[in-house]
Amino acid sequence: MSASQGTHRVLILGAGYAGMAAATQLAARTRRDDVQVTVVNAQERFTERLRLHMTATGQRLAELNIPHLLAGTGAQFVRGWVTAVDAHAKTVRVDDSRVLGYDTLVYALGSVTDTAAVPGVEEHAYALDGPNGATTLADRLARLGTGAVVVVGSGLTGVEAAAEIAERHPGVGVTLVGQQEPGASMNTRAQAYLRAALTRLGVQVITGTVVTRVLPDGVELAGAETLAADVVLWTGGTRVAPLAAAAGLTVDDRCRVVTDLALRSVSHPDVYAIGDAAAIRQGYGVLHGTCQSGMPTGVHAAVSIARTLRGRQPGPFRFGYYHTPVSLGRNDAVVQFTRPDDSPRRWCLTGRMAVWYKETVSASPWPTYRRMSRLPSSGAFWPRGGRFTRVREVR
Ligand SMILES: Cc1cc2nc3c(=O)[nH]c(=O)nc-3n(C[C@H](O)[C@H](O)[C@H](O)COP(=O)(O)OP(=O)(O)OC[C@H]3O[C@@H](n4cnc5c(N)ncnc54)[C@H](O)[C@@H]3O)c2cc1C
Repeated sequence: MSASQGTHRVLILGAGYAGMAAATQLAARTRRDDVQVTVVNAQERFTERLRLHMTATGQRLAELNIPHLLAGTGAQFVRGWVTAVDAHAKTVRVDDSRVLGYDTLVYALGSVTDTAAVPGVEEHAYALDGPNGATTLADRLARLGTGAVVVVGSGLTGVEAAAEIAERHPGVGVTLVGQQEPGASMNTRAQAYLRAALTRLGVQVITGTVVTRVLPDGVELAGAETLAADVVLWTGGTRVAPLAAAAGLTVDDRCRVVTDLALRSVSHPDVYAIGDAAAIRQGYGVLHGTCQSGMPTGVHAAVSIARTLRGRQPGPFRFGYYHTPVSLGRNDAVVQFTRPDDSPRRWCLTGRMAVWYKETVSASPWPTYRRMSRLPSSGAFWPRGGRFTRVREVR
């Protein structure tokens, strides 16, 4: 792509939850300006990460096509795999062969499962990173019939996956193994509900345990004990691709781009970082990767870029968590309402109301992008976190 005289080129890397929010917002906010918005993503189909445990159990999801949604918004779509960023030359290499230039870069490449965490994960375990891995797991589970599945990681991804597998494959024995109690961040009532649902579905839970190795036929636990498994699903933590680090951007110990309050890279202010790939500090700590925070980061980056192009200063990003919705198969769920710092409130929803709530949340991003591309101000509402996130100025 060549830079036409005067045109400001904004390149958005990644069309996940955060990148799509940035793209639809920015295209709508700069429609009358000499701005070219281009989005690069590995696939044309939008990956609903929030529903990957459904894909992994053979459930078909809606075909959400990114170029179709962007058509008419003014944003261009480029399908390809980003292989390098040159922050000095302000170029991005796609599929090793194409070079795209930018004036402003939005880095939104998300995160992947940390398959380097212990030996054997890469070779012997499945992961819920994208549609291909989830579909491969679904095929394997469909052929399994009976047998043992071990889900490693008792965080919420592991809980949702274990519940879904147990519900869809009742002949299979599912064991959830991890260090923490499932639902550890929830209040006692929500946690007890979640634990009872796992028991009802027949999921065996082993906590306080570290998995030290994945074997071809099971997992090795600390202390050398082994747990036999026909299938191992690894959900133990995430990591961010080293592209930004390789480009010389300041990153944290997980390769996330460290941002200022306006979501610009602290080392390269012409690069915005959003979603899981960014280390964004709030008054209560660094955001952990969620869709609920990722979409607002995309909107905020777009608003900031539009403001900057008009010679104004971007404002500080502020976000407070408000809920943790967790599905427990298709017929049960629990929703923990939270304080802005993600600590649990007294209120939670369970059962049918929680199923409805969780489904509403999971289904909302796509219509939200559509709405924002016509009416960008409709995307500007999210909890700012009140006293938990109050800041004085943009650094
Ligand atoms: C199974 C599961 C369940 C989850 N459930 C919830 C939940 O209930 N609620 C919640 O808030 N969060 C949930 N999360 C977390 C949530 O999915 C992430 O926080 C969210 O996806 C982050 O959005 P993102 O835009 O930063 O990254 P992503 O949504 O991962 O998007 C990144 C995009 O970049 C593309 N990409 C990556 N690298 C390249 C490259 N080199 N070249 C080209 N394209 C590339 C990817 O293909 C993808 O399209 C869940 C995650 C998982 C795995």
